Amino acid sequence: MASIFGRVYCFLLAALLPPAPISLLDLAAEHASYQAELDAAWRATAQEAAFIQGPAVQAFANELGSWLGGAHVVPCANGTDALTLTLLSLGLPPGAEVIVPAFTYIATLEAVALLGLRPVLADVRPDTFMLDPAAVRAALTPRTGAVLAVHLFGQCADLEDLAKICSAAGVALVEDNAQALGATFTFASGKTAYAGTVGKVGTTSFFPSKNLGCLGDGGALFTRDAAHASLLQRLANHGQAQKYDHQHIGLNSRLDTLQAALLRVKLRHLPAAQAARQALGACYDAGLADMPGLHIPARDPRSSHVFHQYTLRIEGDGRREALRQHLAQHAIPSAIYYPLPVHQQPAYAYLGYGAGQFPVAEQLCQQVLSLPLHPGLTGAQLDYIIASTRAFFAV
Ligand SMILES: *Cc1c(COP(=O)(O)O)cnc(C)c1O
Repeated sequence: MASIFGRVYCFLLAALLPPAPISLLDLAAEHASYQAELDAAWRATAQEAAFIQGPAVQAFANELGSWLGGAHVVPCANGTDALTLTLLSLGLPPGAEVIVPAFTYIATLEAVALLGLRPVLADVRPDTFMLDPAAVRAALTPRTGAVLAVHLFGQCADLEDLAKICSAAGVALVEDNAQALGATFTFASGKTAYAGTVGKVGTTSFFPSKNLGCLGDGGALFTRDAAHASLLQRLANHGQAQKYDHQHIGLNSRLDTLQAALLRVKLRHLPAAQAARQALGACYDAGLADMPGLHIPARDPRSSHVFHQYTLRIEGDGRREALRQHLAQHAIPSAIYYPLPVHQQPAYAYLGYGAGQFPVAEQLCQQVLSLPLHPGLTGAQLDYIIASTRAFFAV
């Protein structure tokens, strides 16, 4: 009883007193408790002056790899390059098809298109927002070279079915894990694996807003295959095994020593940040579970959720926009990830897909709304957001 009263009291208080300004992302607040560690890393890097491929890069790769259960980690310049390097490493013939979700960030398709491969879209599931295995199966052709699954918003795609489909078809499973670093998936066999370490290659991004963000651009590749890790390493560094010995056409895509040094600091604080995100996600779930027309994020019981985003689905014509405005009037920012499915982006019109072809992705673009969720968000701010959201549905 006491806790229910406490909660109700919180909602009332929160409705009366707006707390400190709320932002979608507050990296300064997140860094504040370990700013001195970041400063020390910065200074040491400047003094050592090994700015490209300095010792912090491999040290960070080793530390992240052991955090991810022993995967090989190859750092690179950003998450989009990680996808490009992955596709280069697969050696697919020109025009080979790569199956991608119709609901994702555009970077997932860019690498495919730029390499002269063909993005083949598959619709997503309305509950998890991620690749529908049945749609993937239907999209397979003799030309399919890879399936590119995206772990959207912090939860794993259906790795069980996708891995099965890919191995039966003899195509590579690639995981775009820019949004779910640290999430785990438990297979029917009882085996549990980290997102990004199940497919042939997994990729991630250290863009500042990601769960493990650096202070600029950065990315990495994951694989369990040592020989493939070494290929990826060469591809990310001009295709060279040794200086001036270029075995492949590669990229200049290296993680700066400075970013690696800062990421070593942030990796030490990632478990606490992840626990904070999960606690905030659970509070949102409890506070918003019973609102008509509002769907809280569906949980796949096989996956943990690291809440890169807390994304609602709002049903009803114009309701999403009305809620967005209501929140804005209460000084609560919200965001739409993503407003347009990839097949309706002008640059991808050449693929020839039409409106209505991916109905789930198209509907999600009309209905999704992400609320602020970051480790710097306070309990008072969270309660205020919940109370303000509830007030919209109560009228
Ligand atoms: C952020 C992101 C990327 C791209 O990462 P960058 O480091 O910005 O290049 C790719 N895919 C998804 C799903 C992302 O969220």
